[in-house]
Amino acid sequence: MSDTLSNEIKKEVDKRRTFAIISHPDAGKTTLTEKLLLFGGAIRLAGSVKARKASKHATSDWMEIEKQRGISVTSSVMQFDYLGHRVNILDTPGHQDFSEDTYRTLTAADSAVMLIDVAKGVEVQTIKLFQVCRKRGIPIFTFINKLDREGKSPFELMEELEQVLGIRSVPMNWPIGMGRELSGVYDRMKNQVELFNGDDHSKIEVRPVSDYRDSVIREMAGDFMADQLIEELELLDVAGDPFDIDKVQAGELTPIFFGSAVNNFGVQTFLENFLQLAPKPTPRVSTEGEIAPTDENFSGYVFKIQANMNPAHRDRIAFLRICSGRFERGMAVRHVRNGKQIKLSQPQQFLAQDRDIVDVAYPGDIIGLFDPGIFRIGDSLSQKSDIIFDELPTFSPEIFAKVTVKNALKHKQYQKGLDQLTEEGTIQVFYSTGNFDETILGVVGQLQFEVFEHRMRMEYGVEVQLHRMSFQFARWIVDERIDPSKFRINSTLVKDKKGNFVALFENEYAMRTAMDKNPNSKFLETAP
Ligand code: GDP
Repeated sequence: MSDTLSNEIKKEVDKRRTFAIISHPDAGKTTLTEKLLLFGGAIRLAGSVKARKASKHATSDWMEIEKQRGISVTSSVMQFDYLGHRVNILDTPGHQDFSEDTYRTLTAADSAVMLIDVAKGVEVQTIKLFQVCRKRGIPIFTFINKLDREGKSPFELMEELEQVLGIRSVPMNWPIGMGRELSGVYDRMKNQVELFNGDDHSKIEVRPVSDYRDSVIREMAGDFMADQLIEELELLDVAGDPFDIDKVQAGELTPIFFGSAVNNFGVQTFLENFLQLAPKPTPRVSTEGEIAPTDENFSGYVFKIQANMNPAHRDRIAFLRICSGRFERGMAVRHVRNGKQIKLSQPQQFLAQDRDIVDVAYPGDIIGLFDPGIFRIGDSLSQKSDIIFDELPTFSPEIFAKVTVKNALKHKQYQKGLDQLTEEGTIQVFYSTGNFDETILGVVGQLQFEVFEHRMRMEYGVEVQLHRMSFQFARWIVDERIDPSKFRINSTLVKDKKGNFVALFENEYAMRTAMDKNPNSKFLETAP
C-alpha cells in the first residue's frame, strides 16, 4: 500500500510506550501515576486515578462498591505526551479479588513497572502480578518507593527480588542515605545526583558529577554518607550484574530505580530512563502468526468490557488494544467472531465526555468502543483478514456458589443478566448434572460475587441469593465416557455453558483421588 501510510504508522509506533504499574495496595501506585501525569501534562485522563479518593464518580452506582470498600475496582487508561513519546498507562486494580480483570489488562501492556514499598519489600500481590508479566515475557522495571522512610537496604531488596521472584536486577540509580538521612540519589547511567529537598518538591535539582567519588557528593551529603556510597557502589560495580538491554527486553533482568513518589523525587529520572528503555508496541500472536504493529491492516482485540460507566445510559464500553494499522473514527471493520462488518463510530479515549472522542489512534493505544452488547472479552476486530488474537489468559475459578432468584417472575431478566455477565467474563456459570436444575457460579475472587449481586439488582432489577459452596477447584474433564458415580466423594460433576463436563472438588485430596481413578481422562484447569 502507500508508502506514506506505512511511514506514518511506523513513526507513531516508535513513539508509543504502553505499560501497566503493578503493585501491592498502598505501595503508592496512585501517587506515582499522578506524578507521571504531571510531567506529561496529561492530554487524556480516565477517572480511575482519583476514583478512590475523590468523588468524581459519585454519581455512578457502579462505583458504590469502590467507595464502600475504599478500593479500586475498575481499570482504565491514561495517556500523555512526554519528550516526544506518547505514553499510555494502564491502571490495574490492586485488590486481589479482582485479579482476573487485572490479568487481562496486563495483556494489553508492552511492559510493566513494578512498584515496591522500600519498607515492605515484595508483597503477596506483587508476586502474583509479577508472575503474570513473567509468563508473557514482558520487560519489568522496578521502582522502589517511599525512600523518605526507613526501609530495607538496597542490597537486601535486590536479594529479595532474586529470592522471591527469581529475577536478577540492575540498579540504575542508588540512594544516598534513606529515611530522615536521605539526601539524594546517584544516577549510575548519567553520572549525576538528584538532590532530595525534603518537602519542597516544587523544583527538582540535578547536579552533574564526575562519578560517585566526586567531592561534590561529599560536600553535599557529608563524609559518612559519601564513604558509604563509594563502598556500596564499588561493591556493585564488581559483584552486580552489568546492564544488558537484551536481558531487560526479555524480562530476565529488571532495572531498579529508587525514589519517593509523594515527594516527586526520582520520578523524572525514572520516567526518562524508562521511556528510553521500555519497548514500543510489540508484535502480537494470532491465528495468522505474529502480527507486526506496522502491518497496515488495522486490528485489535477486546481485553475488557466495563458496564455502567454511566448508569443513566446503561452503557457498556469495550476496551480495545490496537495491535496493528491505523484506526480512524467511522471506519468499517470485521467483527471476526460473528463475521459481521461493523462501523466504529463512537470511539472514546477515555472518559465518556464529548471531547474525548478519538479520530485516529495507532498500535499501543487503547480505545473504548461503545458496546450495544455485541462484544465479548477476547473478540478480535480486523480491517481486512480474519485475524484472531490469542492473548487472553483464562483462570480456573476457585470460589463457587449456588444462585437462586428471589422473585420467580423475574426469570427472564435474570437469564439475560446471567448471559451478559458471563460474556463480559465477570463470572463463569455451571449447571448441575443431577436431578435438580441448579445454577452454580464460579469466580476467582469473592468481590466478583458482590459485583454480580450488585449489578443484577441495579442493571436487571433482579434480587439474587448466593449460597456459598465448599468447592475449591474446577477441572474440565476430557474423556469419552464419564462415569458420574466416580465424582461423589467431596466432589460433583457439572456442565459448563457449552456442555463440557467439569468436576468441582472440595480439596486437593479429592482431586488427586479422582485423577488416580480416571487415568485415561485429562483434567484441565480451564475450558478446552
Ligand atoms: P496505592 O494503593 O498503591 O495506589 O497507594 P497510594 O498512592 O494511595 O499511596 C498509599 C499511601 O502511601 C498514601 O498515604 C500516600 O500518600 C503514601 N505514599 C505514596 N508515596 C509515598 C512516598 O514516597 N513516601 C511516603 N512516605 N509515603 C508515600
